[in-house]
Amino acid sequence: MTVLRAAGATDVGLVRSSNEDQLLVAEPLFAVADGMGGHAAGEVASLTAIEALLVAFDGNRSADGLLDAVRDANRAVWEQARERPELRGMGTTMTALALVEKDGDDVLVVVNVGDSRAYLLRDGELDQLTEDHSVPEELRRAGRLSAQEAASDPRRHVLTRVLGVDPEVEVDSFELIPYRGDRLLLASDGLFGDVADDRIAAVLRRRSDPEKAAKDLVALANEAGGADNITVVVVDVLDDDDRAAKASANVSNEVMAMPRPLPTVSGVGAGGDGDATTEQLPRALLTAEPPASAPAPRTGVEPGAPAPRSKLATLALVLVLVLLVGSAAAAVVVYARGSYFVGAQGEEVVIFKGRPGGLLWFRPTVEERTGVRLGDVLPSRAADLRQGKQVASMSEARRYLDNIEEEARAASPPPPATSAPPEAPPPAPAP
Ligand code: MN
Repeated sequence: MTVLRAAGATDVGLVRSSNEDQLLVAEPLFAVADGMGGHAAGEVASLTAIEALLVAFDGNRSADGLLDAVRDANRAVWEQARERPELRGMGTTMTALALVEKDGDDVLVVVNVGDSRAYLLRDGELDQLTEDHSVPEELRRAGRLSAQEAASDPRRHVLTRVLGVDPEVEVDSFELIPYRGDRLLLASDGLFGDVADDRIAAVLRRRSDPEKAAKDLVALANEAGGADNITVVVVDVLDDDDRAAKASANVSNEVMAMPRPLPTVSGVGAGGDGDATTEQLPRALLTAEPPASAPAPRTGVEPGAPAPRSKLATLALVLVLVLLVGSAAAAVVVYARGSYFVGAQGEEVVIFKGRPGGLLWFRPTVEERTGVRLGDVLPSRAADLRQGKQVASMSEARRYLDNIEEEARAASPPPPATSAPPEAPPPAPAP
């Protein structure tokens, strides 16, 4: 029997006034929904959809039952919008996951409409399972936009598929065989819109408790500006009936266990209009509200922290540049400010901009709080961090942090106690 453990977290973020996301943790069914259509309407859409999904799935706990439940959810939202003029135009995304039995075995079924996502963390690697139903992502899959173009496209909030705007909806669905150690993540775009996948992966690898992982992911998105509502559900496969062991002797299982199974698209739209995505430009059904305003710049400075560059310091900088005209002064500025180091503030690991200890009047400023504690890394690394580990860029800082976390993970749990103390663990191999 497959054993799951799950937790979810949702937060309004730092910019929006209301939370239109909903989450569902009702083992064996899990979901996130990101409502849209204006304040009240967005909340009604996501809540209506989740409730309808739960009720319908309860009546038929199978792979087909989950697909039907999404269609029921679509119709429930659509009917509400039709009956109540003030809710017209509302819609919601829906990404759901259920553990069901199929041919005598347990499978995880993932269904998706819209631009919320499901990810799988397996063997330390994070893979996005779902495809976003947004204009730039459809164009990217059709080969018309590069990944970079799609990521920065102004239409990324324009969805091509959503629940609640038509009586029928096309639902993506696929199945995967759960293995012990698998961790699934459902998330609304408030998470991955502002937080890179490698940062998400680092938290998922670090936090074994799904509740802590969910909370840390929400905190990460808020640290990145919290421009949108943030919702995550983390589902762990704790036990798999030794399926992993058996799978090595079963080729068909290995095929099914590929980390990125191809979605089996189940279209329900009349006329099979779902398979012309390469030629037909997707209809833009709904525009998710872009962030209400640009997120406040993240300074992350707290009492007792190294001071940010204050007005006084800026004034001093200007004065110095005026008085000491020449490249020497500019070079000092670049040297003092133009690099990063990973250090500690109290017991927390923090990425600073500047030089450890500061240089002249340029004191380091907090660039990113990481949520990692000094106690989470090896003692020798903690000592380095107290000194300040200098790096060339933010991405190098993050890589360094990921590496020492990985190293600490590899070193724990410690081997069973023996009479001799265990050898110090070898340094982590270079990535
Ligand atoms: Mn959103």
